[in-house]
Amino acid sequence: MEHHIAILPTPGMGHLIPLVELAKRLLIHQFSITFIVPTDAPPSKAQIAVLNSLHNNKINHIFLPPPSLDDFPQDAKAEVRIALIVARSLPSLREALKPIAATKRLVALVVDLFGTDAFDVAREFNVAPYIFYPSTAMALSFFLHLPKLDATVSCEYRDLPEPIEIPGCVPVQGRDLLDPVQDRKNDAYKWVLHHVKRYRLAEGIMINSFDELEGRALKSLQKFEPGKPPVYPVGPLVNIGGSSGGLEKEECLKWLDNQPLGSVLYVSFGSGGTLSFDQITELALGLETSEQRFLWVMRSPNVVSNATFFTVESQKDPLDFLPEGFLDRTRGRGLVVSSWAPQAQVLSHSSVGGFLTHCGWNSTLESVVNGVPLIAWPLYAEQKMNAVMLTEDIKVALRPKTRPEDGVIGRDEIAKVVRDLMEGEEGKKVRSRMKELKEAAAKVVSEDGSSTKALSEVANQWKKQ
Ligand code: UDP
Repeated sequence: MEHHIAILPTPGMGHLIPLVELAKRLLIHQFSITFIVPTDAPPSKAQIAVLNSLHNNKINHIFLPPPSLDDFPQDAKAEVRIALIVARSLPSLREALKPIAATKRLVALVVDLFGTDAFDVAREFNVAPYIFYPSTAMALSFFLHLPKLDATVSCEYRDLPEPIEIPGCVPVQGRDLLDPVQDRKNDAYKWVLHHVKRYRLAEGIMINSFDELEGRALKSLQKFEPGKPPVYPVGPLVNIGGSSGGLEKEECLKWLDNQPLGSVLYVSFGSGGTLSFDQITELALGLETSEQRFLWVMRSPNVVSNATFFTVESQKDPLDFLPEGFLDRTRGRGLVVSSWAPQAQVLSHSSVGGFLTHCGWNSTLESVVNGVPLIAWPLYAEQKMNAVMLTEDIKVALRPKTRPEDGVIGRDEIAKVVRDLMEGEEGKKVRSRMKELKEAAAKVVSEDGSSTKALSEVANQWKKQ
């Protein structure tokens, strides 16, 4: 009987997309796979498109019914919502696994960063629990270090006078640590701590990174420590196109076809990122003043920076919020699309020469595999940590300065950093560093590459179960 793997993606496109890529790679090892997807609402168009893109009789998916979240405050942080959806979906996960375990040789359950509550169900079925960590070695190293920090630091981390030393990483100021650890009294912090303590229950942790990108952090993660699961760097696992279709795809790609080589700055804040109204105005006017070409995926303004995390789509037409006359004045050299673009194809298009990004890890890796240099504009989750790493450690990004008085990035600063990236000396340096990483990335996922070997090692463990 064929070996079978169950994969449980927690809510969020940034969690689902790399797991879908993992599933594609696992087919080479002769596994069949079921995605068991917890939900809190009818699945989004983007979610369905990504899962349907698999087109393969070895990979199925099941959506679990949304559990009741009636008792739970609307303003709760994303991490709380994600963790609760998973915790309350355990009974339906158990029901979904029963027929699979009865008919197939189910050997492993793979969850992502907030799915460890499902490990108890995995154990009931005698199935090996694994984590696929869809972010950096730096963030994983911080997560594994967090229980110790929690026990030794009594104030908020952002109030610590010195930067925090994360094993194998550049030191990070407390205020740049990931969102849910910024307020230790919030439930988001308690949930993160709960999950990271349970990371040690996994039999292995796969991580979407590779040596040339995060060598020191990975080395420190791979150092043996009793009770710490082995860490397998299997990245970069990225979407290389083909999943998101529709009109916006044709519009973006046709427009890019008519632009000069390497001339376009792609501007996108991932699946969940939203800006304030004032920030949208400054970004629009900054792009206009820069006189560079741009393709901007835009969402309606919001006071919180991850307003579309669970839905992807804006509720109102985002283009209504642009400054008056902006579309006319930039016509021809700028294209603004609403909510979603076929990012993988955009980044691999030869007209694209830069990416202004929220530093989500999938977006970052997609840029790395295409050798596209970055402007780092972090918004939420672990994005500020990623921005520090990308600008200060591996030096593939430029970072605009925020105005201290209101936290907004002003139009002149935006125009300057955009010109610097697309035409300036600083831009040349980060572009050339990114080209080196692109080559390294291609090597590690080639037949003899380190990431291919690491994934084979995991696959062999599963086949021994
Ligand atoms: N994405 C896309 N089109 C968009 C926005 C996002 O295809 O308009 C994809 C992107 O290519 C990436 C994922 O959605 O694979 C976003 O993941 P990331 O980790 O960058 O950010 P998140 O959305 O989790 O904040």
